[in-house]
Amino acid sequence: MNKFETNAIRTQLERSNNLEHSVPLYLTSSFVFEDAEDMRASFAEEKERNIYSRYSNPNSSEFVKKVCQMEGAEAGFAFASGMAAVFSTFAALLDSGDHVLSARNIFGSTHALFTKFFPKWNISHTYFKIDDLDTIENLITPQTKIIYAESPTNPGVDVVDLELLGSIAKKYNLILIIDNCFASPYLQQPINFGADLVIHSGTKLMDGQGRVLAGITVGNAELMDKIYRFSRITGPALSPFNAWVISKSLETLAVRVDRHCENALKLAQFLEGHDKVNWVKYPFLRSHPKYEIAKKQMKAGGCVVAFEVKGGLEAGQQFFNSIKLLSLSANLGDSRSIVTHPASTTHSKLSISERAETGITDGTVRVSVGLEHSEDIIRDIQQALQ
Ligand SMILES: *Cc1c(COP(=O)(O)O)cnc(C)c1O
Repeated sequence: MNKFETNAIRTQLERSNNLEHSVPLYLTSSFVFEDAEDMRASFAEEKERNIYSRYSNPNSSEFVKKVCQMEGAEAGFAFASGMAAVFSTFAALLDSGDHVLSARNIFGSTHALFTKFFPKWNISHTYFKIDDLDTIENLITPQTKIIYAESPTNPGVDVVDLELLGSIAKKYNLILIIDNCFASPYLQQPINFGADLVIHSGTKLMDGQGRVLAGITVGNAELMDKIYRFSRITGPALSPFNAWVISKSLETLAVRVDRHCENALKLAQFLEGHDKVNWVKYPFLRSHPKYEIAKKQMKAGGCVVAFEVKGGLEAGQQFFNSIKLLSLSANLGDSRSIVTHPASTTHSKLSISERAETGITDGTVRVSVGLEHSEDIIRDIQQALQ
């Protein structure tokens, strides 16, 4: 059995007659048939082949094949963005009247999907507190179909016990879906802990260089078939070009993520001793409340560090205005380090009490630690704190 790094590079499509070394880009919307019988058999799904790029394309198939290999999944489908994957997965699996039990600490757009759009289709949700997993079972109703969570969470870098969620989902026969975007398949494979489906925004660590939007859902073959049938009709498919870019990026995922984590841990350790900082959160810091769980389910701590600048909103803004090297942006998982102020950007649409529930204060800073030299990253943050 080859290791993760080898599979990431060696899992690829069969070579064409040109014997290319690197998989070529298939910019084609459709595919041709040999004859009438081939056409009939293809549409009858008697053979596995490409028909139309809304259904499948060699480049998206390569991306799916690699991520299935990384996550230990049976099947998958590639989407135009992470949110297309989130939406299509729910839309394919849920019926009117169904209920979703979700962690409170989730990506802002997923929260907006639950609260603003689900009610239109008579789909309800309840949030559970990730610090209080014991009470989850009380929140399950006869209508509950899915348990949903992210780990580590955004932007608070909290850690959810995946094994515990897996055992609850199994006990009540619910579908467990994990958004694994913050960890990447290199650091954590939720299927090992009982997840049925795993979602990624490929836009983040998978591409890792801030170029393309992409998303993917992988997991149980029966569930994936439902998601595939919904998606080939509704059209959220990933473009061949973006699939080609991200498939190449996966070849370097392990080396990149190793360095992201190394740099992030150094920054977290530096901040932990700093007198202008109230608190620091990073899964692989001993002071993290879920350090033991993080160690159990992750290979390293990821690229995101959260901390609070002393002095509230004003000190927070002064910190951002003093940053010189790092980018002020809302993205993450990029080779360039990025600082974000969640209270005024990604989570600005939440009320103050909603923000408090997800652990975001006015002074909370989220750093997506990139691949620049760690000394340069730390120096910029140090001078901004000063
Ligand atoms: C960015 C992100 C998404 C959405 O992905 P897009 O590619 O931006 O649509 C979903 N979940 C998490 C945790 C994310 O960070």
